[in-house]
Amino acid sequence: MSGKIRFAPSPTGFLHEGHLLSALYVWAAAKKWGLKIHLRIEDHDQSRMRPAYVEGIYEDLAWFGFHYDSESIQSKRWPLYEQAISKLEAQGLVYPCYCSRKQLEAENPKSETGEIVYQGKCLTRRETWFDRLTNREGRREIEPHNLRFIVPDKVIQWHDLRLGDFAENPKLQCGDFPIRDREGQWTYQFAVCVDDIDEGITHIVRGEDIRSSTARQIALREALGAKEPPIYLHHALISDSTGKKLSKRELAYSLRQEREAGSSPETLLGRVCFKAKLQESPTPLSLDQAISLIESRI
Ligand SMILES: [Zn+2]
Repeated sequence: MSGKIRFAPSPTGFLHEGHLLSALYVWAAAKKWGLKIHLRIEDHDQSRMRPAYVEGIYEDLAWFGFHYDSESIQSKRWPLYEQAISKLEAQGLVYPCYCSRKQLEAENPKSETGEIVYQGKCLTRRETWFDRLTNREGRREIEPHNLRFIVPDKVIQWHDLRLGDFAENPKLQCGDFPIRDREGQWTYQFAVCVDDIDEGITHIVRGEDIRSSTARQIALREALGAKEPPIYLHHALISDSTGKKLSKRELAYSLRQEREAGSSPETLLGRVCFKAKLQESPTPLSLDQAISLIESRI
């Protein structure tokens, strides 16, 4: 099989064990299926990224010995996102939302996962906005708003190689969702879809905490003209001894701090595989051993 897979960290902090496990899954999947590996730095939110974290990603990957075939950084791809949004606007699939966080909380129901399901309040204001948009420069004078994508009200069926079949309606999961936020930053959901299509990604392997984004991403991909969805695999996350997912605070100890404290790559690789229940003890592993171990479980 030929194709391309991506490892796509956000430079909003230094990489931690959770990222290391994800990287191992991506490299293991690439080995198993003979895929090219693409490194994408997801700095779509310029207000949260820091250059030091971008450097950190390169340093950490090199220290472990992860090699990739190509790379991109989202901040250099702004024209592509503008183009994509125009494509959605041309289909009438975008509208501005002026609701504050407080209003969103108060006026919309929540899904069983606790996510706000936007009911489309601002959809009715769309016409005025499009009139004013004829002068695109005039957009700056308009009150703060995000831009939402109109999701189709339909069940989307998709398959996960580990978790099986899903049938989900994004209209009921989240409703119309933001593709650009109030500060003018592209959202994760939007940038990731534009990039996956443009970069020819055929396989998406990522943590199961992002699984619920899949149906809405498939809907957005379709609107952007993608021919078919990629192959998905959402891997299990590192959990504590009681099986609960580790909190951000528990994962706060970065790989960089471990490195500076004198840990070897082998120690960290062995430990992360142990914590992910891929081996019985925290026996140190070389990168090849860790990748092979995961490859045999995919
Ligand atoms: Zn609104």
